[in-house]
Amino acid sequence: MAKSSSDTPLMRQYLEMKEKYPDAILLFRMGDFFEMFFEDAVVASRALEITLTSRDKNRDDPIPMAGVPHHAINGYIRKLLDQGFKVAVCDQVEDARFAKGLVKRAITRVVTPGVVLDTDQMEAKSNNFLAVILGDPGTDEGFGLAALDLSTFELRATEVGELARVADELCRLAPREVLHDPALTADDLAALRGMVPATWDPCGDDLLGDAAEDEALVADRGEGPLERLGLADMPMAVAAAAAALRYAASTQPGLPLPACRVVSYRAADHLQLDESTLANLEIFETLMERRRKGSLLWVLDRTRTAMGGRQLRHLLAMPLLDVATIRRRLDAVELLVGQASLRRAVQDHLAQIFDLERLTSRAVLKVASPREVGRLASSLAQLPGIAGLMARVAEGSLDRELPAALAPPGDLVEDVARGIQDTLVDEPPVLVKDGKMIRRGFNADLDEFMDLAEGGKESILAIEAREREATGITSLKVKFNKVFGYFIEVPRARLDAVPEDYQRKQTLVNAERFVTPELARHEAKVLGAEEKRIDLELELFEGLRDQVAQEAGRLRRVARWVAHLDLICGLAEVAQEYDYVRPDVDDGQVVEIIEGRHPVVERFMGHGEFVPNDLTLDPGDARLVILTGPNMAGKSTVMRQMALIALMAQLGSFVPARSARVGVVDRIFTRVGASDNLARGESTFMVEMREMSAILRHATSSSLVVVDEIGRGTATYDGISIAWAVAEYLQDRVAAKCLFATHYHELCALAEVRPFVRNFNIAVKEWKGGVVFLRRLVPGGSSRSYGIEVARLAGLPGQVVERARKVLAALEGGEQVDGIPVRATPASADSPQLSLFDRLMGGADAAAATGAAATEAPALSPEEDEALSQLRALDINRMTPLQALTTLAALSEILKQSE
Ligand code: ADP
Ligand code: MG
Repeated sequence: MAKSSSDTPLMRQYLEMKEKYPDAILLFRMGDFFEMFFEDAVVASRALEITLTSRDKNRDDPIPMAGVPHHAINGYIRKLLDQGFKVAVCDQVEDARFAKGLVKRAITRVVTPGVVLDTDQMEAKSNNFLAVILGDPGTDEGFGLAALDLSTFELRATEVGELARVADELCRLAPREVLHDPALTADDLAALRGMVPATWDPCGDDLLGDAAEDEALVADRGEGPLERLGLADMPMAVAAAAAALRYAASTQPGLPLPACRVVSYRAADHLQLDESTLANLEIFETLMERRRKGSLLWVLDRTRTAMGGRQLRHLLAMPLLDVATIRRRLDAVELLVGQASLRRAVQDHLAQIFDLERLTSRAVLKVASPREVGRLASSLAQLPGIAGLMARVAEGSLDRELPAALAPPGDLVEDVARGIQDTLVDEPPVLVKDGKMIRRGFNADLDEFMDLAEGGKESILAIEAREREATGITSLKVKFNKVFGYFIEVPRARLDAVPEDYQRKQTLVNAERFVTPELARHEAKVLGAEEKRIDLELELFEGLRDQVAQEAGRLRRVARWVAHLDLICGLAEVAQEYDYVRPDVDDGQVVEIIEGRHPVVERFMGHGEFVPNDLTLDPGDARLVILTGPNMAGKSTVMRQMALIALMAQLGSFVPARSARVGVVDRIFTRVGASDNLARGESTFMVEMREMSAILRHATSSSLVVVDEIGRGTATYDGISIAWAVAEYLQDRVAAKCLFATHYHELCALAEVRPFVRNFNIAVKEWKGGVVFLRRLVPGGSSRSYGIEVARLAGLPGQVVERARKVLAALEGGEQVDGIPVRATPASADSPQLSLFDRLMGGADAAAATGAAATEAPALSPEEDEALSQLRALDINRMTPLQALTTLAALSEILKQSE
């Protein structure tokens, strides 16, 4: 019987590797290719669009096979990751030239979305997190959450009480891969996955340890006792952190996992922004198109380095609460606003700095290329210049010294920069395989190999000179050709002078060719030199890279400084360019903005076109502001503007206003009504109410709550009633600072019965039968919605607009339209605003008076009957907007006939 194709030593070796990583595509090095076999080959050939062939075609059971060239492997890995695969790389770990029998192979790395090391695959200004969530939702022990960025060696860990907060944290971290507790139910998972687009997998048992093991591992890798890491009383966080470390270690077999910067935190230490607030306030991306342009990040990001960019992103998701810290940061920004030209010079240096954090990590993980190590040096070389400029900034400051955050560390790691520059050539290559990376003069052996590899011209000339002298044959030459290698050529005329030890090689017409033992030795040296040069270069480079890795701690310290400086310079630049002002941040409860602007909206307008507004929230006075005004007046803008200004102040940024006082807020909540939030598909009333209830439960008296048009998703009176009750609860019970935009004018009545409620509206001017938006916030409720004027602006046919005006006038005047008593809604009467207010106030008389008009059902005219039945028959979903308008016009025509 024929032996099976897989029963060969090579295939047995393959299967052994594959067994260890069943859920990854295994790339198996064979010579210049990485091959895939069996199912992997079938799947990958499709995913990578490469040819599927087979091994041992002649056998009965050929093995499917597909391969990629080894030098292009990173591109293929990226493609596989993008399509959701994991990849295990099995490399040859001994030189095939010296292997006896089967070449030794080992898994050298496993690449999953959360642990990629290839910087091309990451966004420079975002972290690349692997997150672990541990905790059983069936208990009330809460959850441990850890996030590890293997490209920067940052490990963040925290504990949270509820699964909803886990979701908030994950949204801030935006991990690429999540390992979750197997105890999470399918429903929990479905909800989380919907919010956090990442690769999700259950956390395997092999990643869990007992408490003591977990503690030891985290303390070891974090280089400090748990107390110092802030994790002493967070066992769940420690367990999650340990699992993340174990997972990372399993993906880098054979490499000791380097030390990490462990950052433990509690949500309550920061200004908390839940998932929907980050989205609604468009902090990282716009709501509709999910683009960066148009977000707060887009406005504020003037960082020149990837590290500074990540720092800003981190800060935006977690602004500060501590007044002293915020003020210190504002001091730093202020100093750099005042010293613009020095700041620009610093930024020019910063622009030349590569990602020190990621380059360091790549050196530690032994994957940094010669070019990357070179970049490390050229980046470090910028630091003394920056430190010098900062010293001049200090001289220009009142205190004659820099805020701590800006002060350069004493150690600028200059020795590492010098070490690299002395070792590597000026422009090192990306690949190690061809050498040409080590500088001449660095290593004597290498210099010799290089000489030899380049033909050993010097030594040849020396040999030639010596032989001429010894033999007295001045026409003697040392030459080279491919067939004989090096030889000595002597013209026929001088053959008599050739010494004994010359061995004859070839006879030509006019000359004879010889070799000598010395020349043979030289030849062997030259021919081996190229190989030796490459081997030695590799050895020297790896030595250098390891030396750099040894200094990872120092490198990370300067990287932190650069990140911080870059962040502050960027904030100062924006502040100066857009005329921001330093906010007055304190521990009080008042948020007072004078001539505030929306940082993003103003950027899309010409200079001076944005209309600034004053707005103050004060729990002891204007605690809850009800904002009314027509659609498009600017309600949402002014509310978001206030939230953004508070948030910016708590980052330590200047703000777009003439002046601003910000009593630190602990949380910002936003609830944006269904119609304003179509992009997220959350139009259901249920979602709206769920979010609202979360706000009512979690908001405190130090929170800022923005409620934009709630209750739209339900019938009018339901909506008004809910909005009313929510507003009451917020002012009475929560006492949070609250902005409440609504198109229900009825809510304005609340101000008359609640001491801390104020009405504001956004002024519009009626002009030539239309409206002009003035964008100015003025006290008082607005009496009209101007919906019809806005409809006219939007291009509704004149006929329809006219008709609508008539109907509205009739409604407002309590008249009849076309002889029919009109009723906006059942139970409504001539003055809906008053009647609702009266009923809520318990005015029995008013209720009785208005109730009467509502009970009588009107008779319909035949035309109206016809219009109604036509309306009912419509299938709105299948109509184009134009069809809808035409139909509307036709209906309006029919109804006219009943006049
Ligand atoms: P509303 O919520 O009242 O319907 P928005 O806040 O969405 O209105 O504002 C509508 C548009 O009006 C904004 O997109 C912006 O272009 C413009 N706008 C709003 N506020 C201002 C302002 N203060 N100055 C200038 N333009 C503004
Ligand atoms: Mg709005």
